[in-house]
Amino acid sequence: MNAPNVSNPHHVGPADPSVSSVAEIHRVEAFVQAVLVPNANYVDQHGISRIQLDELAETGAFGLPFPAALEGGAQRAAVAREATELIAGACATTWFCFAQHRSPTTALLNSTNAELQDRWLPKMIAGEAVSGIAFAHIRRPKQAFWLQEHPDGWLLDGSLDWVTTWPLADVVLVQGYLRDANGVQRDEIVSVLIEPPQVNLELQDRTEIDGLTAGPELALAVMGGTRTWPVRFDNYFVPARQFVSRQPAQEWALNNSLVAADANPASFGIARACLDQLADIAQSSGQSSVRESSGALTQEFVELRAAAYKAADTAAGDREVAIATLGQRTALRAQALDLAVRCSTALIVASGGRAMTLSNDAQRHAREALFLMVQGQTAELRAASLQGLVR
Ligand SMILES: Cc1cc2nc3c(=O)[nH]c(=O)nc-3n(C[C@H](O)[C@H](O)[C@H](O)COP(=O)(O)OP(=O)(O)OC[C@H]3O[C@@H](n4cnc5c(N)ncnc54)[C@H](O)[C@@H]3O)c2cc1C
Repeated sequence: MNAPNVSNPHHVGPADPSVSSVAEIHRVEAFVQAVLVPNANYVDQHGISRIQLDELAETGAFGLPFPAALEGGAQRAAVAREATELIAGACATTWFCFAQHRSPTTALLNSTNAELQDRWLPKMIAGEAVSGIAFAHIRRPKQAFWLQEHPDGWLLDGSLDWVTTWPLADVVLVQGYLRDANGVQRDEIVSVLIEPPQVNLELQDRTEIDGLTAGPELALAVMGGTRTWPVRFDNYFVPARQFVSRQPAQEWALNNSLVAADANPASFGIARACLDQLADIAQSSGQSSVRESSGALTQEFVELRAAAYKAADTAAGDREVAIATLGQRTALRAQALDLAVRCSTALIVASGGRAMTLSNDAQRHAREALFLMVQGQTAELRAASLQGLVR
């Protein structure tokens, strides 16, 4: 059951009521109200600053799932989910930049490169070092980026279409297929941690160093504030000390699918924010149509979120179950994405014409919900979402 929201009984509470007493959740919530909510439309239009990510790091959000021995929060999945819902519901730009950080940190935690861990891991867990990641291209049927072995490290060659936070990040985990000296692609995925050239965004909208060109910022219908830059490598040398891991491509693909299948708490965060605003409109205007749709959507939300988190928890504890439930979890993820789109559309409908002004949250939530349809998209998710769109 979802907990009643203490500050407003008409608003949706967390999936697990016990997270409300966790100190990090109090800090995240205070940051969300003081910084993210009032600035979200500005950040959406003008871009996020490194300062905002540093302030978020001070809440402890970056370290939530990581071990206490490394100064992480060692928190349950329910706590990380609630933090994600709160952040994404307030400002999906901030959430998306924050979300990039988790996989590089996990990859480095699991690396055999102790020297690289010593250099970066404590800072990454504390959120003092911000990290990005480039891996979505690996899922494509045809590659445009590869890594090649070099006697002293690796050569990176080709283009990455999207690297979020590139000009803000201290490190970026770059993953790609191995290519041999004859230019033949091998069935192996290599990961390296690179340090992007520092950028002064007041003066520069791109960087160019020997073998590496990045920027300019992409002009986007949504997530335009995430500092997402295209990056191109031309036999760019990365020393062996930056190596993180290598693994068979099939193993990488399965591990990636197991994680990608679950519904993203961010989609519930956006839906929840829309439902809360819908409830406010129902309260203040007294329109029965808004009250009825708000009530029905909230009930659907609470049930779907509980089912999605339960399925994710069951899969997290058992790899066999995780594999056996791939289809079921992907279907839940597609339903969650669809629900976020419908909740944001309902908010637009209930808000009237003002919803179309760029200073209004409703249009931003709707664009963010649509973005989630393609973010981390797998072929299976695409099929499930398309199927759900056919009546
Ligand atoms: C604003 C923005 C920021 C982003 N930032 C990052 C980032 O920082 N790091 C990162 O790694 N990614 C990032 N992405 C990428 C994003 O996660 C991907 O766009 C998303 O996963 C969809 O992949 P795609 O764009 O490569 O689309 P597609 O190439 O269409 O692929 C989508 C899915 O469809 C499948 N598919 C495509 N073509 C076929 C086919 N012919 N047959 C069968 N299956 C097919 C692919 O296997 C893939 O799983 C960003 C995207 C955006 C829009």
